[in-house]
Amino acid sequence: MAPSIWWIRRDIRLTDNPALHAALANGDGVIPLFILDPKLWRGRWFSQRRGNFLFSNLKSLDTELRKRGSQLIIRQGQPKQQLSALVQKFEVNAIFSEEDLTPYARERDSQIAETLPLNLVGNTSLHYPSSILKNDGTPYKVYTPFMRRWKEKPPPTPFDILSAPNHIPTPKGIASQPLPEISYNSDKTGFPPGEKTAQEILAAFADGPHAPIFSYQESQNRPDLNSTSKLSPYFRFGLISIRQAVTTAFSAIQAAKNDNQRNSAETWLNELIWREFFNYILYHYPNSLHQSFRKEFRDLPWINDEEDFSAWKAGRTGFPMVDAAMRQLVDTGWMHNRTRMVTASFLVKNLLIDWRWGEAWFMKNLIDGDPAANNGGWQWVAGTGTDAAPYFRIFNPITQGQKFDPSGKYIRRWVPELHSVPDRYIHTPWKMSPSEQQSAKCLIGTDYPEQIIDLQFSRQRTLDAYQKARS
Ligand SMILES: Cc1cc2nc3c(=O)[nH]c(=O)nc-3n(C[C@H](O)[C@H](O)[C@H](O)COP(=O)(O)OP(=O)(O)OC[C@H]3O[C@@H](n4cnc5c(N)ncnc54)[C@H](O)[C@@H]3O)c2cc1C
Repeated sequence: MAPSIWWIRRDIRLTDNPALHAALANGDGVIPLFILDPKLWRGRWFSQRRGNFLFSNLKSLDTELRKRGSQLIIRQGQPKQQLSALVQKFEVNAIFSEEDLTPYARERDSQIAETLPLNLVGNTSLHYPSSILKNDGTPYKVYTPFMRRWKEKPPPTPFDILSAPNHIPTPKGIASQPLPEISYNSDKTGFPPGEKTAQEILAAFADGPHAPIFSYQESQNRPDLNSTSKLSPYFRFGLISIRQAVTTAFSAIQAAKNDNQRNSAETWLNELIWREFFNYILYHYPNSLHQSFRKEFRDLPWINDEEDFSAWKAGRTGFPMVDAAMRQLVDTGWMHNRTRMVTASFLVKNLLIDWRWGEAWFMKNLIDGDPAANNGGWQWVAGTGTDAAPYFRIFNPITQGQKFDPSGKYIRRWVPELHSVPDRYIHTPWKMSPSEQQSAKCLIGTDYPEQIIDLQFSRQRTLDAYQKARS
């Protein structure tokens, strides 16, 4: 028998990996292969930071493979050519991969499958998008009915989770190219690489009677509390399977001691279903990656002021909650969900800058940057998407800060010039008198910027623009 190829894409893990298991069952040895595709590697959304996280994870996978008698084979180049060369040289009988549901990956795979024995096993969602449809056979466009239908499907159980294989036989003498130079500092990002880390984070979040999953509902919106799982970078590269996360959520729902705990675990499950939903939307409506889903909002009169955009990117808008979050993004490559909504709303609905500019900046900086979730999030906030916040919902960055970072702990962490500003001014530092500014060592306009926009004026301007577009 000939070996099979386990072509790794967004499933950099040994635990619960159906494609790896299929490759093991089917071939006389497995070639674990990762191809650095120049299309993605140098594409418009390439992010050096996310690339470094990816390479660190590949390195860690290679270490694990070597403990099991195998090794990771790296190839650079066009995937079809690289696969063809290996298939011919090693008389490979089949290629096994987890299906990536993004438009580019689907197109690439369907072309490869025309001439090579590519088998797609499992996918980046738990439930395949075409398996959840309305009674009339069309896809859902609204989250809540989608979520209900999703929950009607039989849930996975812990018995479904496939263990990591102990031994992976790999033919000797297959040349591997080096990974690009890695400069990844997990002390800075807070996301150490590796499948083992992902397992530890999930366990810390969900194991035991006082685990954070049981208080998620009260704390999930508080960026100052660090209370969400922070698993998103690990889901992005499949360092842990979505099936395992869903199973963990169902187990927590079962184990909950009271309604509060049950609702919290259920709320976390619902977040995982948001991830499924945005994968689903991109699968059924791939064009939403390039344009507003809602036709009436495709020609909004964006202002797209470059100076405003630069201030937003640098966290120098004069609005502390926005600035803290934008600096957290640039410093670490991650941002809390609440502040993703606040900063996105500020860009689109106060500065009237095209949501696609913000989407691209997030993709450039986020370690968890994911085409489906990011596009879905931006279009939701912009009010242009499928299940969008209504266009007239505009987050107020001051009241959002007061509600979700009441003492200003989060703001002070990321905007050091506001460190000594008294609590009562932390969300509105421009209200300090000149002498208060002196004693807080924070002169507005010198140490910290003045507000770049008037909230009331810009809110009305946006409402007018959206209303005009609708009519
Ligand atoms: C403008 C905007 C852009 C976003 N861009 C991305 C992105 O590029 N990549 C990304 O993974 N998420 C994105 N999100 C969703 C969300 O902000 C992050 O998934 C979440 O903050 C990750 O933190 P966590 O792992 O601690 O999440 P938890 O609160 O612990 O949730 C668990 C998991 O559920 C999923 N999830 C939670 N909320 C959402 C959501 N709203 N949409 C989709 N999946 C969700 C994530 O996989 C997350 O890891 C975006 C949201 C907005 C508003």
